This record gives sequence, structure tokens and C-alpha cells, in this order.
Amino acid sequence: MFDISGREWTEEEYLRLHEQGLVQEKDVVKVIGVHNQMCERCLNQSDEWFGTFTYKGQLITYCRQCLDFKMVDNCHYLYRSLMPAKVTQNAHVLNLDFKLSSLQQRASDFAKNILKKGETGIIWAVCGARKNRDDV
Ligand SMILES: [Zn+2]
Repeated sequence: MFDISGREWTEEEYLRLHEQGLVQEKDVVKVIGVHNQMCERCLNQSDEWFGTFTYKGQLITYCRQCLDFKMVDNCHYLYRSLMPAKVTQNAHVLNLDFKLSSLQQRASDFAKNILKKGETGIIWAVCGARKNRDDV
């Protein structure tokens, strides 16, 4: 069974999943990707992280901050699952045998905080970017 809880898709991704019968229209809410100078996926509001181009006479504004996760713009929808992310009794308990670096701890605290509040957020971390070091 395809789990859609807590998921969000670009229009292209949603249409493909819908075509495959994995997601139904009743299971999602759609929002314009970039609306009122804010990216609905990563919540970016900094002008410096928006890009623009003209396509077929229409000015397209897209978010560069989360571009690595596929383009979000002012002309396409993002589709959000209406099923909240699942946190079950059977969720794994993570026991670390090492101390998190300050950046890792910051990301961990952020994640715990938004989960507790039922909010959404994004942690953008690059593999090999020295998050495990405290001296950066
Ligand atoms: Zn974004």
C-alpha cells in the first residue's frame, strides 16, 4: 500500500501518481507553489532566492532555495496530502552512541519542535558538508 501521509508533491509528481491510481483528488489539497512572494514548500520569503523567467509570454517566478527538490513556481500547484504524517506507537527509538555536533543538534531540535507543534518545515542538509564538525 502506498503511504501518502505527510507527503507533498509537485504537480508533475501528483499527476503521475494520480494516473497510477495511487493518490486521489479527495486525499490532497493544492496550493500555488509560489504565492505572495513565498514558497509554499520551503517557506522562503527572501527575494534573493527567487528567480524569474518568461515562458510563452508569462512571467514565471520560481524558488531557488528548494530547487534541488524540483521546481516550485507561481504557475503550478503543490499537492499536499490531507493525511498528517504518522507517528505511531511502533515508531523507532533512536539511541545514539555519540554526541551530535552543534549543527546536527540544531537540526534535531528544529525537527522535534515542528513535529511537536504540528507544523511543517524543511531541513536542507548536504551530504559531506561537514555537519558532523563543531569547528565550522
Ligand atoms: Zn522553496
